[in-house]
Amino acid sequence: MISQNTVTKLYNDILGFPDHGKVASYIPELANVNPDKFGVFLKPVYSEGFGVGDFEEKFSVQSIAKVFLLALAFRKKGEDLWERLGYEPSGTSFNSIVQLEYEKGIPRNPLINAGSIVMCDILIDILENPKEDFLQFVRKLAIEDDIQYNETIVTSESKTGYTNNAIVNLLKAFGNIHNDIGEVLDFYYHICSIEMTCRQLAGTFQLFANNGIVPHTQERILDISKNKRINAIMQTCGFYDEAGEFAFKVGLPGKSGVGGGIIAILPHQYTVAVWSPKLNSKGNSYKGMRFLEHLTSETVSSIF
Ligand code: GLN
Repeated sequence: MISQNTVTKLYNDILGFPDHGKVASYIPELANVNPDKFGVFLKPVYSEGFGVGDFEEKFSVQSIAKVFLLALAFRKKGEDLWERLGYEPSGTSFNSIVQLEYEKGIPRNPLINAGSIVMCDILIDILENPKEDFLQFVRKLAIEDDIQYNETIVTSESKTGYTNNAIVNLLKAFGNIHNDIGEVLDFYYHICSIEMTCRQLAGTFQLFANNGIVPHTQERILDISKNKRINAIMQTCGFYDEAGEFAFKVGLPGKSGVGGGIIAILPHQYTVAVWSPKLNSKGNSYKGMRFLEHLTSETVSSIF
């Protein structure tokens, strides 16, 4: 079992490394964060876990929330989900449009923006109150009610979301968006604006390390096959055009967000959340990637 001392030592090592990353500024509100924040929380399955640094501070989870979207959409639609999107790595950035045109409006996978926007459209058709129902779903996974959307971030992203506008319009032109594009983007921006601490994030992802069951309530959210598939998608697509690098260096299924968060999962063992806002050129937390690389190497705890 990984000890708190080991995690603290690794945290302090990485804290001293030069950070070559840059805080995301294409969503203006995200640039207001203190760039030196750094928090870690590791939660073994069925145990309380421990944190170091800024692990109790909330941050914008951004694309990490796409995994909750996938869990809810896959749970509701089953295999039919794959009629509207694929599950292959894209090898392109999170907001790339190029593939979408030559693949006729079918996004490569659920974790790039195009795939998540299609899942939002699917859920608008199924859920009675999409924003409220999604938030309740996340709170159920977290076993905490203190999880909210940040409307300031939603407004900030809506005002500058030119690329996502292009994506949703192209999807609509190919017939892969059924609802009003404004409504779909509004739902998507809300999902991305959720704020959590590293401790909450590590807790919310526990079911993926536990065969689809939330450990502390014993509620089954996903069957074993769906849970396996979601972990596989995180492994192959969770870091966009850096998914290979993350598998190579860290060796765990995981997901990043432009708020600087990363979640990683060692099935049947633990979840670990890291937050450091400065991003590398692929939009993934610079220090977060390094911390996880050192963690899995030094504790010999990757899936490979
Ligand atoms: N809301 C962000 C966007 O759509 C999410 C991107 C990310 O976290 N990689 O651009």
